[in-house]
Amino acid sequence: MAAKHNISLDDLLEGALMEPARKRARIRLVDSIQSKEGVELSGGDIHTEEGRLIEAFSFYYARLVICASEDERLLARWAQAEATRAEHLLIRDSQNVLNIANTYISVLEQSQPGRSAQRGMIGTDIQSLRQSQDGLEWKLGLADFIEVCPRITGNRWRLPNCDIDSGIVRLHNEQKYSSTAKLARLLREHIKSDVEREGIAKMAEVTTDLAVRLAEPVGMVRNLLAQKTSDAIALVGAEEDDWPPCMRKAVADLSAGVNVNHFGRLFLASMASTLALPQESCVEFFRGAPDFDQGTTSYQVAHVYQHGYTPSGCGKLKVNHNCPVLPGDDRLCDQPWLDHPLKYIRATQRRKQRQQQAQAPKDPVEETPNEARV
Ligand code: SF4
Repeated sequence: MAAKHNISLDDLLEGALMEPARKRARIRLVDSIQSKEGVELSGGDIHTEEGRLIEAFSFYYARLVICASEDERLLARWAQAEATRAEHLLIRDSQNVLNIANTYISVLEQSQPGRSAQRGMIGTDIQSLRQSQDGLEWKLGLADFIEVCPRITGNRWRLPNCDIDSGIVRLHNEQKYSSTAKLARLLREHIKSDVEREGIAKMAEVTTDLAVRLAEPVGMVRNLLAQKTSDAIALVGAEEDDWPPCMRKAVADLSAGVNVNHFGRLFLASMASTLALPQESCVEFFRGAPDFDQGTTSYQVAHVYQHGYTPSGCGKLKVNHNCPVLPGDDRLCDQPWLDHPLKYIRATQRRKQRQQQAQAPKDPVEETPNEARV
């Protein structure tokens, strides 16, 4: 399209023809930070050449902005939003889903007699999309399935609950989750990985000149993300500066849409429960998670609060990749006695207490030289 319409990088950055694409790119970027539903499906009519130009080049402009930010959290969040958009499109595009699926994995399609196709459900949310049956049932190889399923939460994605026969996984139609929706969910993970991988590669190619020209939109997305992160942290009051880096990182990653592994999630919930943070605040920590579901998260958080799980120690957090510090990064974490995040919190609280006492106005009696010596 760039060759056909003679569109250069300068045109994309500043040309009048690309102004609508830049506007749409800003919407894509804002959606990626603010919307749970991912990037809005379409900014125009993609059945016209102009609409296709806007849609395609807005993606590339948004990617330039993300790459110029050199912020991998932003990249992860944007990749997540674009992949979610693709998932929505694939569920409703039963004509093209097979071709697109086969660019990532090998799938087999089987029509189910007696089911009526429902297409063109523009305006429906993801839940109703997943429920809609299009008469198709998909099968894929076990290797393709297990490559992706650990990244998806929910019991239906665990192997013992799957319908497997001779190395083939059948994505059966459920009343609330159609086979096509399951396939689209699996493809979302592949698309997200692709967008992230390409983004990382492109980051290395950003020149100083390009970064300067994109400084304004980069500032806009950075500020939005910072605002989102501080909103999540502020939910639980002012004491967050007592938290250890592992807890801050989990909260910041989740609010930035970066996936936190199961061990990290359990750690965060058990820390919140131990610190007696309100249960609702703990649920809010997970709101930005790529797979957030209010009902499931509330249930799981309630379970952790009810059973009073003890948060894991530093050793286990390090082994499970949930400790973000390296030697020299944090004075407290470097201490040989620091083997549990709760010790970190106690130490910061004691230090604060000592500082408050030192700043408190002194009793006149204590100020006499004799008393001071005693
Ligand atoms: S050393 Fe312990 S307290 Fe510090 S960040 Fe790592 S896991 Fe958390």
